[in-house]
Amino acid sequence: MKGDTLSNWIAGQAVEAAGSERIENLDPRDGTLINTIPCSGPKDAEVAVSAASSCMEQGGGGQGGAGGLNVADRSALLRSVADSVERRLEQYAEAESRDTGKPLEVAMEVDIPRGVENLRFFAQAIEERQPMSFSSASSVNEVLDRPVGSVALITPWNFPFHLLTWKLGPAIAMGNAIVAKPSELTPTTATMLAEEFTGAGAPDGLFNILHGKGAEAGDALVRSENINAVSFTGGTATGRTIAEVAAPLLKKVSLELGGKNPSVVFADCEFSSTLEGIAKAAFFNSGQVCLCGSRILVEDALHDALVESLVEQAAQWSDRIGPLITKEHRNKVASYVALAAKDGGRIMCGGEEESPEDGAWFAPTVICGLEHSSRTAQEEIFGPVVTIHPFKDEDEALQLANDTDFGLAGTIWTSDMVRAQRFAQKMETGMVWVNTWNERDLRVPFGGMKQSGSGREGGRWSMDFFSEARNVCVKQ
Ligand code: NDP
Repeated sequence: MKGDTLSNWIAGQAVEAAGSERIENLDPRDGTLINTIPCSGPKDAEVAVSAASSCMEQGGGGQGGAGGLNVADRSALLRSVADSVERRLEQYAEAESRDTGKPLEVAMEVDIPRGVENLRFFAQAIEERQPMSFSSASSVNEVLDRPVGSVALITPWNFPFHLLTWKLGPAIAMGNAIVAKPSELTPTTATMLAEEFTGAGAPDGLFNILHGKGAEAGDALVRSENINAVSFTGGTATGRTIAEVAAPLLKKVSLELGGKNPSVVFADCEFSSTLEGIAKAAFFNSGQVCLCGSRILVEDALHDALVESLVEQAAQWSDRIGPLITKEHRNKVASYVALAAKDGGRIMCGGEEESPEDGAWFAPTVICGLEHSSRTAQEEIFGPVVTIHPFKDEDEALQLANDTDFGLAGTIWTSDMVRAQRFAQKMETGMVWVNTWNERDLRVPFGGMKQSGSGREGGRWSMDFFSEARNVCVKQ
């Protein structure tokens, strides 16, 4: 990184883009300039992809790992980078906090440590991965992993470091070479990480960073004939565009997309921990979390008490969150609240911009009285805005919970574990939490049903995505 000017990172060094146009990265807190990045296009993408391809060639073009690294080398590399990021925790957290606007302590305690954990997790997982073999009277079948090749990792701005490492860890563990395209809004920690890999002795071209706009740099990667797989996290509309481009090329694609996740609260829940849990699910990271619980469904008997208490919680969360990522995004969030008011919703708190300086601040907002079919209750807002909807019994709760195009995650709050299990079975979401939210074990599958994506990340699901499973059958 050179001062306030970031470059692409290709084949182990800073590389300028062919064009001179640069994109400004602004602080969401006050709109001041943090740094600028290159506005890369298809030519720059090909330079980055060719660096990745050369690195694959060093490993025998896919016979072995990128750069000739074997499993032990890759594992050691991931551990070494994890250690050095941990030593520089404060620097990484400051950069992440500046780019995203999230409070420094959140970046220190959540984002960067989780990124370190991701790298260590996959360093260990690759060491523990057992080759599969199936024997019958007539043959022995071995299943062999082979790297997919050069892969594109396209990531959003809400958890830039964590989500990049969540893909990078398994991609490197399985022997691939990478071109990553971070969000243009949060480019800094990705660049630091690429430098870190080079510093830790990664072969040139193992991990390349291509900065620029999604529709140009990102799109060029998806279209590149030398990119063999695309792992994407972001909005559903972008995911659909990527799928349309990748499908005729028969590329492997993993899509982790948006959500409109229900928090289902039964009257028999433990009230104070439920309140704490659903408030966190609603407002953490200013609601800019794909997993956030933005639709609260509550049993009639508890409705009024829950609304009142959640409004109190919202006031407390106001001091714990940063601004939204940009003013444009704040305007989008505000437009949903205005729409809710027009559609007959009652804005119980929040709903307005909070602008201490010139930043993209928005107050935690609680909305009641809206039809569940209204756009505010159906579309992903990605801000600190929740709608609350009463239900009379379990059947109605389930009907409302599943009445959405999305299917990422949901939470159930009850003291009746039989009911929780029954309800969890019928919820149309990739993930269900009971009496907790976003509690993660990195071994389990992560991903959504319906319009929330296709494919799964986490544990062996990530490792399977970043490898070609091959079968060798030997006649006995
Ligand atoms: P976007 O879909 O706008 O962007 C995600 C990434 O894709 C960015 O790097 C973006 O680049 C890039 N991109 C945009 N257009 C294209 C394209 N045509 N081809 C290739 N790449 C492209 O999402 P946001 O960054 O706005 O992130 C918020 C969204 O991400 C929310 O909808 C949220 O639900 C979802 N998300 C899902 C998660 C999950 O695991 N399911 C986790 C976190 C977020 P650039 O921004 O630089 O233009």
